[in-house]
This record gives sequence, structure tokens and C-alpha cells, in this order.
Amino acid sequence: MTGVPFLDLGRQAAASREELEDAFATVLVGGRFVGGPALERFEAEFAAYCGVKHAVGLNSGTDAIALALRAVDIGRGDEVITAANTCVATITGIVAAGATPVLADVDEETWTLDGESVEAAITPRTRALMPVHLYGQCADLNALVEFGVPIVEDAAQAHGAEYRGQRPGGFADGAAYSFYPTKNLGALGDGGAVVTNDAEVAVRLRMLRSHGERAEARGVGVIVGVNSRLDEIQAEILTRRLARLDEGNARRRELAARYLSELRGVTLPAEGEGRLHAWHLFVVLAEDRDAFRAKLRNRGVETLVHYPVPIHRQPAWTHLAGSVPLTVSERLCERVVSLPLYPELTDQELEHVIAAVNAR
Ligand SMILES: *Cc1c(COP(=O)(O)O)cnc(C)c1O
Repeated sequence: MTGVPFLDLGRQAAASREELEDAFATVLVGGRFVGGPALERFEAEFAAYCGVKHAVGLNSGTDAIALALRAVDIGRGDEVITAANTCVATITGIVAAGATPVLADVDEETWTLDGESVEAAITPRTRALMPVHLYGQCADLNALVEFGVPIVEDAAQAHGAEYRGQRPGGFADGAAYSFYPTKNLGALGDGGAVVTNDAEVAVRLRMLRSHGERAEARGVGVIVGVNSRLDEIQAEILTRRLARLDEGNARRRELAARYLSELRGVTLPAEGEGRLHAWHLFVVLAEDRDAFRAKLRNRGVETLVHYPVPIHRQPAWTHLAGSVPLTVSERLCERVVSLPLYPELTDQELEHVIAAVNAR
């Protein structure tokens, strides 16, 4: 074997080539490219999958974060508490809603939002908590509901994850999903959705995504909206891929279980109590990250870092460093390394990665 790519979306597309061609044919024949039957069907099926009443398809996960907040009337002057070790898209989503992100630290074991740190970050202007289900593992939502503040989940990495038997969106006020191609459920381009049990929120989202118009009275902006829609072709592809999401996640779990039992010399990810991990990413901690990545690179194993710099140390966001200590996030960002893990990874490749990690 010459090497193991970090991710190979071409394999996924090749394995389902006929299905993709059929999806394209269906949309071409139907002649509707935005706002048609494929979107309606996907929204119904994705809501059912998530165990919630409504799903609203949007143009990206970042838009889903922004519009989920706006739909519950969060905007200028409102603070939204989120994790300092997240993907910068969480922050741009909050800012796109007009709100102010406030950073809290994460739990040392699960690397997700820490209740005690959130408590320290709460002010009279706190209007929402946005836990990030980082790498595919749900944050400890029970520890967050106690604050009595609305919870909007960033579930961009957590399709099919569970918290005490519920998928993101079912437990809280709403969840934002991304269908960026690399996610557990990915489109052939950008896509996103908000899921919620609140019918009024769903109605507002449908208006927000289409210039603030009501579906029954196009051309009249009732509220200030944007253009953020999920194309028919993406919806059609997502419906077909949704049918195989659990199968893909089961394969991810199988691969993760082998990493967990066979990898040596690194700190392994921990699964929090009551949680079903979706294993979007398999992230380990290495004491000397550069040396560890070089060792793997020399053995043909590609790795990535999610994410190298905590939000408050990124040039655009240094003003978000506040009085709440973010030391766990800071330490994690220095040591995290993501190993190859995706449903199409072969057993042979997995063994190659394990041997490379365990090599002296
Ligand atoms: C991917 C991602 C997003 C943004 O989704 P896009 O569809 O790329 O806009 C937001 N938050 C997290 C944690 C993500 O991984």
C-alpha cells in the first residue's frame, strides 16, 4: 500500500455512481431546480430521521446557524455562548445573525461545552447557548438546560449522533446541520438545514430563506430575509444518501472501535455517558504533534488538524478573548490530530494507519 488519504470523496461517489446519475435524471426530467418536490421530500425524511417535526433546507450549515438564531428572534445585542475549540464557521454563523459570540471552555474528557465554564460566561445579555457536537459527539445537554436559556445546537458534525436516545434537534430548541460534502451526510456542494419541533420557528425559517416572503404571497417581504435555499439536485441526492446514513455511521463506529482498542502512545477520544458518537472525525491527542504527523506522513498516512488555533487566538476574533479562562481549548488545539476515518476506508488501510501510529 502506498498510502492512506485522509478522506476520499471520489470513492464514495464512484460507489454510488448509478444512484447519483438517477438522482440527476429525476431532477432534470422534473424540470424544477429550486423549491420543488425533492426538497419537500428531503425535509420530511430528514425531520423524521432526526425525530423532530420540522426540517427546513438551507444553503449551508453556516446559514443554518445564523437563521436558526434569527428564527428565535436572536440578533443585535444578544450574546450566544459557544465553545472556544469549534470550527470558525460556528462563529461566523452567530455573527451573521447579528449576535455576539461569547466563548466558553470545553470539558477535558469529551472536548465539548463545559457547564461550569458556561455558567461563568453567562451575563444578562445571554440569549442562547450553542453547544457544538464536535467530531460527532453530543455535548452534555443536561448540564446546559439547567440555565434556562434557549439551546440551539451546532450539529454540523453530528448527523445520527444521539444524546440519551435523542438525535440533535429533538432535545433542544433547534439544531443546525451542514451537508458540506465531507460531513457524515454530504451533498455534492453546499447545503444545510435547521430542524425543530416548533412550528412557528419553521414558518419563520421558510420566510427567512426566501427574502422574508410568505409562501402564499411571493414578492412581498414581510420580514428581512436572505436567499438561502437548498437546491433540488442537492435535496434529491441527500434523500438517497440519507437512506444509507446509518449504515455509514455503523462502519465509522466499527473503525473507531478498532482504533480505540489498538492505538498506542496517544490520548484517545472518550465517549461521554449516554451518548452515541457519530464519529465524524477520529481525533487523538499527541504530545509532540509535529513529530507525530511527520511519522505518519513518512508512512503515507495523511492527517489533518481540527482545529489548530482556538477562536480567540485567530486574527479576526482576538476581541472574543474575555474573562472566562479557555485553557482546556488552548491545550487541545496544540495537540489534536485527526486520523483517516470514513465508511469507504478499507480494513487494510485501517491496519496500515494503526501500524503507523504504533511504530516507534
Ligand atoms: C461544517 C461546519 C459548520 C459549517 O457548515 P457549512 O455547511 O460549511 O457552512 C459549522 N459548524 C461546524 C462545527 C462544522 O463542522
